Amino acid sequence: MSVESVFPALEPLLPRVSKPVQYIGGELNSTVKDWDEARVRWALMYPDAYEVGLPNQGVMILYELLNEQPDVLAERAYAVWPDLEDLMREHRVPSFTVDGHRPLHAFDVIGVSFATELGYTNLLTALDLAGIPLRAADRTDEHPIVIAGGHAAFNPEPIADFVDAAVLGDGEQAVLDITEVLRRGKPSRAEVLRRLAETDGVYVPSLYDVTYRPDGRIDAVTPNDPRAPRRVVKRTTTDLDEWPYPKQPLVPLAETVHERMSVEIFRGCTRGCRFCQAGMITRPVRERSLAGIGEMVERGLGASGFTEVGLLSLSSADHSEIAEITKGLADRYEGTNTTLSLPSTRVDAFNIDLANELSRNGRRSGLTFAPEGGSERIRRVINKMVSEDDLIRTVSAAFAQGWRQVKLYFMCGLPTETDEDVLEIASMAHRVIKAGREASGRNDVRCTISIGGFVPKPHTPFQWASQADPGTIDGRLRKLRAAINSDRRLGRNVGMRYHDGEPSLIEGLLSRGDRRVGRVIERVWRDGGRFDGWREHFSYQRWVEAASQELAPYGVDLGWFTTRERFQDEVMPWDHLDSGLDPDWLWDDWQDALAAREQDDCRWTPCFDCGVCPATGTDIQVGPSGTALIPITPVTASGG
Ligand code: SF4
Repeated sequence: MSVESVFPALEPLLPRVSKPVQYIGGELNSTVKDWDEARVRWALMYPDAYEVGLPNQGVMILYELLNEQPDVLAERAYAVWPDLEDLMREHRVPSFTVDGHRPLHAFDVIGVSFATELGYTNLLTALDLAGIPLRAADRTDEHPIVIAGGHAAFNPEPIADFVDAAVLGDGEQAVLDITEVLRRGKPSRAEVLRRLAETDGVYVPSLYDVTYRPDGRIDAVTPNDPRAPRRVVKRTTTDLDEWPYPKQPLVPLAETVHERMSVEIFRGCTRGCRFCQAGMITRPVRERSLAGIGEMVERGLGASGFTEVGLLSLSSADHSEIAEITKGLADRYEGTNTTLSLPSTRVDAFNIDLANELSRNGRRSGLTFAPEGGSERIRRVINKMVSEDDLIRTVSAAFAQGWRQVKLYFMCGLPTETDEDVLEIASMAHRVIKAGREASGRNDVRCTISIGGFVPKPHTPFQWASQADPGTIDGRLRKLRAAINSDRRLGRNVGMRYHDGEPSLIEGLLSRGDRRVGRVIERVWRDGGRFDGWREHFSYQRWVEAASQELAPYGVDLGWFTTRERFQDEVMPWDHLDSGLDPDWLWDDWQDALAAREQDDCRWTPCFDCGVCPATGTDIQVGPSGTALIPITPVTASGG
C-alpha cells in the first residue's frame, strides 16, 4: 500500500524554523525508491542534528548497501530541532525521513545508530512524534521494529525498554541478515523478534530477564525464551576490501561538521588505550589494502565532487602502509585542489613526514596530538605510551618546518589521577611554546589544549573504575588554568578548551547503567530533555532530579551508577553481550592499570591473548598488502 509523503504538511512550517534546508533531502547521491516495489523498508535514523548525522559513515554505508538490494528501500532520518518539533506537534506532522518524507511509522524497521548515549532522549522524541509507543512492550504487529546500533549498543540496557533489538558490532552483514528475516514475512511481532534473536549479533532485550540482589547489584541476566542465546557475540566484518562503502558519498545541502569524503582505511585498534571503548570493541585490526583505498578515493571523489579526502580510522597513522598511501595520493592529486586529512595522529618523528605529505596541496594550519594524560605516570595507567620528550621533539620539528599551531587533547578524571597529574599539562604546554619559539624563531606559535571529562565505558579495563565527580574535575581544571597563566609570557600563547564535568557524569550513568536507568531517560524526556549532547540544551539539574526520583524505589542512585567502583565478581549489565574480550584479560589489564604497567600493541609484539581473535574467528590483518595504488597516472588540475 502506498504511503503519502508528509511534505505538503511540512513545507508550510519550514519558513518558521532555523536551517530549514536540513529537512528537505535531495542531496547528491541520495535515493528515493518506489515504495510499492520494496519488500523490506528501512528508516535509518541518526538521533542528532543533520549537521552531525549526515557525515556519519555508519549510516552512509548501510544506506547505500541496503538500497543496492533490488527489493529493499532505505531512507534517512535525523533528529528535528525543538522549534520544528513544537510545530510538528501543533500541526500533527509525524516523524519523517528526509529522502521521501515518508512517515517513520510506515517503515518495517527503524535502525538507530548511537554514537553517544546522550542521543537517547532524541530517540524518544522521534518515536513519540511518529506515533510509535515508546515502550517496545506496547507495540503491535502494525509498528516498525526499532533496532539500535553503533558503539552505544554494546550496552543497550538503559534503552532496553524502548528498542526491540540491538546489533552488536559491524553492521554490513548484520543488516542484510535482518533484512532476510523480514523478507521471510512477519507472522507476528513476537515471532519476528525470536527470529532476530537467532540472528548472529542481534540482541533482543525482551527475551532476557534481569534479577537483582538486595544491595542493588545485578544477580543474573537470563534468557526467558529457548531461542535466545545465553550470550550474544558481536559481528565482525573480516575483509574490508569486500565492502568498499560508501561508493557514492552523500553531499550535504546544509553546513555539516565534516565536508569531505571519508575512506575508512582500517577498522579496529590494538594500541590498548584503556579508556578507549572504540579501540576495545572493534578489535582486531583489519586493514583495507592500498589498492582498495586508491579505488575508493578515486570513485568517491568522482561521485561527490568533494575536494577533501579524510583517511579515517581510530589511529590512521598506524596503517602499515600509511607512508605509501599518503605519498601515492599526494602524488596523484598534486596540483589539484584536492587535499588529504588524517584526523588522528601519532606522536613520533615519522608523523612530520606524513604531515608534510598531507599538507602538500593544502594549508599548514595545525597539528593535533592526543597525549590524553598530563603526566608520564598517568599515561602509563591509561596505556598511552607517549613520552613528553618525544612530543617536544615532534612539535619542534613541526614548528621548524613552518607549522604554527599544535593542538593537544587530554582527559581529566582518569583512574588514580591526582591534581599533580593534571597540573603537568600546564608545564607540557609551556614547553611546547618554548620549543616552538626556539625552532621557528617566532613569538606567535600557539598551543591549544582541549580537555574532556573521562567516562568509564563498558567492555574496557576501566569498566570497574569509579568515575570522578564533576566537582573534582572542575576543581582540577581551575587549578590547571591558574598554572597555565602563572607564566604570562608563555601562558598567553596557550588556549584552553574544556567541557565541565556534569555532562560526563550523565554520559557515565547512561554508559554503565542497567534497565532501571530507562525510567530516568523517560522522565528526563517527559520533562523536556532534548539534544543532551549539546551544551545549550543539556540540563544537569533535570537529570539529577529525574535520577533521584526514578532510582530511589530501587535503592540506588546516580552515584551508585557512576562514582562507585565495581567488584571483580559483579555481574555487569552487559556481561551477556560478548565483544570478544576475555573478562579475565580485561580484569588483569585493570590491575596493570592500577599498577601503572603498560601493555604493548599486538601488531608489533606477540599476541597477549585478549581473546578477540579466537572469539570472533578472525585475526589481525595488517599489511603489507602487496597491492599498489592504481591508477598511478597523476590527476592534473584540469582533470581533477
Ligand atoms: S587475540 Fe591476540 S592478536 Fe588478537 S587482538 Fe587480542 S591480543 Fe591481538
